[in-house]
Amino acid sequence: MPEYKAPLRDIKFVMNELLNSEQHYANLEGAEDATPDMVDAIIQEGAKFCEQVLSPLNQVGDQEGCTWSEGGVKTPTGFKEAYQQYVEGGWPSMTADPNYGGQGLPHSIGLVVSEMVGTSNWSWGMYPGLSHGATNTIEEHGTEEQKQTYLTKLISGEWTGTMCLTEPHCGSDLGTLRTKAEPNADGTYSITGTKIFISAGEHDMAENIVHIVLARLPGAPEGTKGISLFIVPKQLPNEDGSAGERNAVSCGSLEHKMGIHGNATCVMNFDGAKGWLIGPENKGLNCMFTFMNTARIGTAIQGLGAAELGFQGSLAYAKDRLAMRSLSGPKNPDGIADPIIVHPDVRRMLLTQKVVAEGARALIYLAGQQVDVVHSGKTEEERKHADALLGFLTPIAKAFLTEIGYESANLGMQVFGGHGFITEWGMEQNVRDSRIGMIYEGTTGIQALDLLGRKVLMTQGEALKVFTKQVHVFCKENADNEQLKEFIEPLAAINKEWGDLTMKVGMTAMKNREEVGAAAVDYLMYSGYAVFAYLWARMAKVALDKMADGTSEEMFYNAKVQSARFYFKRLLPRTKTHAETMLAGSDSLLDMPEEAFAI
Ligand SMILES: Cc1cc2nc3c(=O)[nH]c(=O)nc-3n(C[C@H](O)[C@H](O)[C@H](O)COP(=O)(O)OP(=O)(O)OC[C@H]3O[C@@H](n4cnc5c(N)ncnc54)[C@H](O)[C@@H]3O)c2cc1C
Repeated sequence: MPEYKAPLRDIKFVMNELLNSEQHYANLEGAEDATPDMVDAIIQEGAKFCEQVLSPLNQVGDQEGCTWSEGGVKTPTGFKEAYQQYVEGGWPSMTADPNYGGQGLPHSIGLVVSEMVGTSNWSWGMYPGLSHGATNTIEEHGTEEQKQTYLTKLISGEWTGTMCLTEPHCGSDLGTLRTKAEPNADGTYSITGTKIFISAGEHDMAENIVHIVLARLPGAPEGTKGISLFIVPKQLPNEDGSAGERNAVSCGSLEHKMGIHGNATCVMNFDGAKGWLIGPENKGLNCMFTFMNTARIGTAIQGLGAAELGFQGSLAYAKDRLAMRSLSGPKNPDGIADPIIVHPDVRRMLLTQKVVAEGARALIYLAGQQVDVVHSGKTEEERKHADALLGFLTPIAKAFLTEIGYESANLGMQVFGGHGFITEWGMEQNVRDSRIGMIYEGTTGIQALDLLGRKVLMTQGEALKVFTKQVHVFCKENADNEQLKEFIEPLAAINKEWGDLTMKVGMTAMKNREEVGAAAVDYLMYSGYAVFAYLWARMAKVALDKMADGTSEEMFYNAKVQSARFYFKRLLPRTKTHAETMLAGSDSLLDMPEEAFAI
């Protein structure tokens, strides 16, 4: 099993050298506490907790899994104690509202900690991750009374939260959900229905669980316009705020699944459970959308984590494992064979994981900065711009990173040869655990429709321009830089092609709407590679500038430039295939009649 080592040097590179976090925090309203020393101390402490407490529990969680008995769920050995430590360390309150016990630190710092938590033990990290979703919802839409009752407990970590959207017949299409909410005379609601696949729906880590539930009021309009949002606690709160009588909500069973065994995936039965409306009637989905970007960036971290964990495990193995000789002559003449890291194909697999992990880190932290500005930017203009950029980057980060993160996890396993398939090395667990990233929080197909349909075409390309303008400025500023030429020229070409392709898809979509669905996933993947090209070119520039100024870390910065070169030569060309297939039209997908799909 690989021992997780927090990649602190690269985290600092992205935060401080690429994204200038110090200046970024200084520009935010109310982020005075986010001084460089404070941020550094948080990251160091977080790294220690993840390396020493969470990482050793990753395999335990996979092997033991969660167990269900009479409605109760026992989490794997050590999970509960680790959660206790997490709460005592004040981690749940880090980015939350100070009026309810939070520390009010910028969200982007929370994302760095989430990266380390998620990479060291994704299943465990989902428990506080889901609480974070519930916290955000109540913070944004709850009444003062709801905030005093629930938010304080979620922020302290005494209670955890869930998001209850999915039902047996619907996940992507929430417009068809059936869970009912009947108004009671006292202003509460009786919630009845079944929710499935509810992560952290039941467990033994905290004294109460706050479910955020989507349901329909009597006579509500059909579809997404008739959905409301409710708080349904597992135990009803007493007058003094403590957890009281049991509510009529229970876990009917646990799902048996491919990975993330340490996280309880629950069937939740609501049998007239008492609930409270959050936000306006029939506006439940709108309320959810306000924090969806943050939740999706949270899921994007799973792609980053999968690549990082695979890279850490397979790098150590590739330096140690001996097999055959280098084609250009022995590199380890005293040994019986050379270490496999000398072979070009092993290099391909290692470098792919490395550039995916580091590129993903850059993308997620960049998105995290937009979340900060949306919440605490000083001017309306800044907040609006950040919101547009975040909206555009979110589906790309969520879907592209989980797709290439999963590919990387597979490559991590492949580097191990047969041993990769064997449990003890942890690589097959990484593959199994990361597969779900492409499914929950909106599948890749659904994210792609969001990007191409809602974000790009419905804004007549404005959302795309918010990003491509930035790339254009960067290319122009560096057009005369000889050392950067190998990155700037292809980047400028991709940036232009991206706009041209968008126009072409948009034109065909005006004639036939099926073209949007037919092009969407290729468009999203193309966009992901284009965003990565921009980030890798910027990282190469930072590294080249550092080396020009003189540095004692020549190897680190040189590796950045070499990684950028690998990216441009070996991964960016994938855009060619996506460009061609996104324009291939819907006919080859839709011409075949359904009956012809017979087996
Ligand atoms: C381990 C796990 C944990 C989960 N945790 C939670 C949780 O905490 N809370 C929660 O509410 N849910 C949770 N989910 C549910 C998850 O979010 C849904 O499974 C997911 O959104 C997909 O919905 P579905 O399963 O109903 O698939 P469907 O919506 O039936 O989709 C099936 C396939 O059809 C495609 N598809 C559907 N519509 C379209 C379209 N219009 N165009 C193109 N393709 C389309 C999808 O992309 C997918 O490939 C979890 C699921 C799992 C497995």
